Amino acid sequence: MTCNRCGTCCKLFMINLNEEEYRSKRYKTQFTEFVDDFEEAELVGANILAQNEDKSCIYLKEGKCLIHDKRPQSCRNFFCDSKEERFQEMISMIKQKLHK
Ligand code: SF4
Repeated sequence: MTCNRCGTCCKLFMINLNEEEYRSKRYKTQFTEFVDDFEEAELVGANILAQNEDKSCIYLKEGKCLIHDKRPQSCRNFFCDSKEERFQEMISMIKQKLHK
Protein backbone atom coordinates (compact mmCIF):
# COMPACT_ATOMS: atom_id res chain seq x y z
CA MET A 1 0.00 0.00 0.00
CA THR A 2 1.64 3.25 -1.05
CA CYS A 3 1.32 6.44 0.95
CA ASN A 4 -1.62 8.55 -0.14
CA ARG A 5 -0.96 11.13 2.57
CA CYS A 6 -4.18 10.27 4.35
CA GLY A 7 -2.64 10.98 7.77
CA THR A 8 -4.17 7.83 9.26
CA CYS A 9 -0.84 6.81 10.80
CA CYS A 10 -0.74 10.18 12.57
CA LYS A 11 -4.14 9.43 14.09
CA LEU A 12 -3.49 5.88 15.21
CA PHE A 13 0.00 5.64 16.65
CA MET A 14 1.94 7.21 19.46
CA ILE A 15 5.24 8.73 18.41
CA ASN A 16 8.30 8.12 20.56
CA LEU A 17 11.01 10.74 20.38
CA ASN A 18 14.60 9.54 20.39
CA GLU A 19 16.98 10.89 22.99
CA GLU A 20 18.30 13.74 20.86
CA GLU A 21 14.80 14.81 19.87
CA TYR A 22 13.55 14.60 23.44
CA ARG A 23 16.48 16.53 24.89
CA SER A 24 16.15 19.25 22.24
CA LYS A 25 12.75 20.17 23.75
CA ARG A 26 11.61 21.27 20.31
CA TYR A 27 8.54 19.01 20.33
CA LYS A 28 5.44 19.08 22.46
CA THR A 29 5.23 15.95 24.57
CA GLN A 30 2.50 14.30 26.61
CA PHE A 31 4.17 15.31 29.86
CA THR A 32 4.91 18.94 30.46
CA GLU A 33 7.57 17.97 33.02
CA PHE A 34 10.97 17.10 31.63
CA VAL A 35 12.54 13.83 32.79
CA ASP A 36 16.32 14.16 32.75
CA ASP A 37 17.10 10.45 32.63
CA PHE A 38 16.10 9.40 29.11
CA GLU A 39 15.65 5.73 30.03
CA GLU A 40 13.21 6.78 32.70
CA ALA A 41 11.51 9.16 30.26
CA GLU A 42 10.94 6.21 27.93
CA LEU A 43 9.68 4.04 30.76
CA VAL A 44 7.05 6.53 31.84
CA GLY A 45 6.20 7.68 28.30
CA ALA A 46 7.48 11.21 28.79
CA ASN A 47 9.09 11.09 25.34
CA ILE A 48 5.79 10.53 23.54
CA LEU A 49 4.54 13.34 21.32
CA ALA A 50 1.52 15.18 22.63
CA GLN A 51 -1.85 14.10 21.27
CA ASN A 52 -5.15 15.81 20.69
CA GLU A 53 -8.25 14.62 22.58
CA ASP A 54 -9.07 12.22 19.76
CA LYS A 55 -5.57 10.70 20.15
CA SER A 56 -4.30 12.13 16.87
CA CYS A 57 -0.89 13.77 16.83
CA ILE A 58 -0.80 17.35 18.07
CA TYR A 59 0.98 18.35 14.86
CA LEU A 60 -1.68 16.98 12.54
CA LYS A 61 -3.91 19.74 11.20
CA GLU A 62 -6.47 19.21 8.46
CA GLY A 63 -4.72 16.01 7.44
CA LYS A 64 -1.31 17.60 7.13
CA CYS A 65 1.78 17.51 9.32
CA LEU A 66 2.60 21.01 10.50
CA ILE A 67 6.23 20.06 11.06
CA HIS A 68 6.75 17.81 8.06
CA ASP A 69 10.33 18.97 7.38
CA LYS A 70 11.24 18.55 11.04
CA ARG A 71 9.11 15.54 11.93
CA PRO A 72 10.63 13.02 14.36
CA GLN A 73 12.68 10.08 13.16
CA SER A 74 9.90 7.62 14.08
CA CYS A 75 7.62 9.37 11.59
CA ARG A 76 10.33 9.29 8.92
CA ASN A 77 10.96 5.57 9.40
CA PHE A 78 7.39 4.50 8.77
CA PHE A 79 5.95 3.90 5.31
CA CYS A 80 2.76 2.08 4.40
CA ASP A 81 4.62 0.09 1.76
CA SER A 82 7.41 -0.92 4.14
CA LYS A 83 8.38 -4.56 4.08
CA GLU A 84 9.90 -4.34 7.56
CA GLU A 85 8.41 -6.90 9.90
CA ARG A 86 8.08 -4.41 12.78
CA PHE A 87 5.66 -2.28 10.76
CA GLN A 88 3.34 -4.97 9.44
CA GLU A 89 0.86 -4.83 12.31
CA MET A 90 0.65 -1.06 12.02
CA ILE A 91 0.06 -1.31 8.28
CA SER A 92 -2.74 -3.82 8.90
CA MET A 93 -4.36 -1.44 11.38
CA ILE A 94 -4.25 1.37 8.82
CA LYS A 95 -5.79 -0.85 6.16
CA GLN A 96 -8.57 -1.85 8.56
CA LYS A 97 -9.26 1.77 9.43
CA LEU A 98 -9.37 2.83 5.77
CA HIS A 99 -11.75 0.05 4.80
CA LYS A 100 -14.26 0.60 7.60
S1 SF4 B 1 4.79 14.69 13.72
FE1 SF4 B 1 3.78 14.88 11.75
S2 SF4 B 1 4.24 12.95 10.66
FE2 SF4 B 1 4.65 12.62 12.85
S3 SF4 B 1 2.73 11.76 13.69
FE3 SF4 B 1 2.70 14.00 13.96
S4 SF4 B 1 1.56 14.79 12.20
FE4 SF4 B 1 2.25 12.71 11.70
